[in-house]
Amino acid sequence: MRVVVTGAAGFLGSHLCDCFVGKGHAVIGLDNLITGNTRNIEHLAGDEKFQFIKHDVTEYMYISGTVDAILHFASPASPVDYLEYPIQTLKVGALGTHKALGLAKEKKARFLLASSSEVYGDPLVHPQREDYWGNVNPTGPRGVYDEAKRFGEAMTFAYHRTHGVDTKIARIFNTYGPRMRSGDGRVVPNFITQALSGKPLTVYGDGTQTRSFCYVSDLIEGIYRLLISETNEPVNLGNPVEMTIIDFARKVLDLTASKSDIVFERLPVDDPKVRQPDIGRAREILEWQPGVQVKEGLKSTIEYFKGVM
Ligand code: UDP
Repeated sequence: MRVVVTGAAGFLGSHLCDCFVGKGHAVIGLDNLITGNTRNIEHLAGDEKFQFIKHDVTEYMYISGTVDAILHFASPASPVDYLEYPIQTLKVGALGTHKALGLAKEKKARFLLASSSEVYGDPLVHPQREDYWGNVNPTGPRGVYDEAKRFGEAMTFAYHRTHGVDTKIARIFNTYGPRMRSGDGRVVPNFITQALSGKPLTVYGDGTQTRSFCYVSDLIEGIYRLLISETNEPVNLGNPVEMTIIDFARKVLDLTASKSDIVFERLPVDDPKVRQPDIGRAREILEWQPGVQVKEGLKSTIEYFKGVM
């Protein structure tokens, strides 16, 4: 295959590039580098199967030759980032998805949208199944990301129904691993860098809110299986092992052997109280489920942060 990855210099995008190059496919990676970093793909430089183009995918994308698949992963993805870049976040989810779908239509390529568990907002149904419509505050600070992803899904389905594009939608739940940016503000890089530097771990709220963390290699395998599958329905991809944020903080302290304290800070507006994927559909259609335990995944992530701090 010849595949286009948008957001190629980001956390997930760069792992996807590795996955496809590793399987012998040719990859064209696009990124405007506002939250991505070429350090994440520098090891691919010089590989004849990989090409990087610095490009803002909200602008028209021209790619010469055949393209078999487009994976649209460009977007700020951490609450801190999308609060800093609210308009870019809306634009890449809306205009960027439109441009990427236009390219898929032109090239008769498969299209995969990186959607998010944020389409469920602060969920009233638990765990979240794909048939749940969500509980999103459109005008709250997180709305820029949540609504961009929801619009992206609607646009993706419109291209599927109207133009017959073979589209896939991955609803990605919290994912972690090497190449997360230390300053991106998400809980995993925050807690690990705080623990490693002896600073207090900042638990927002009382820490009873829950998340379910999936290691990046599991997620990438799920994305690959979804891309080559026949389904056009949205599919949740995440690890169903749910934990409270306070327990997660304790786990990070334990695995880093850190003496850091835990401090409590204000809970961000509209922070979802619970989140856990129902992965029944992924199990059935993709025969996929995560295999990496949180302890194991955190150990390699901690090693990564030790190397970049
Ligand atoms: N969180 C926290 N301390 C931090 C960063 C995040 O307690 O330093 C909490 C945050 O309020 C949320 C959870 O951890 O409840 C996950 O936050 P993250 O930013 O990683 O992603 P989200 O799942 O909210 O999109």
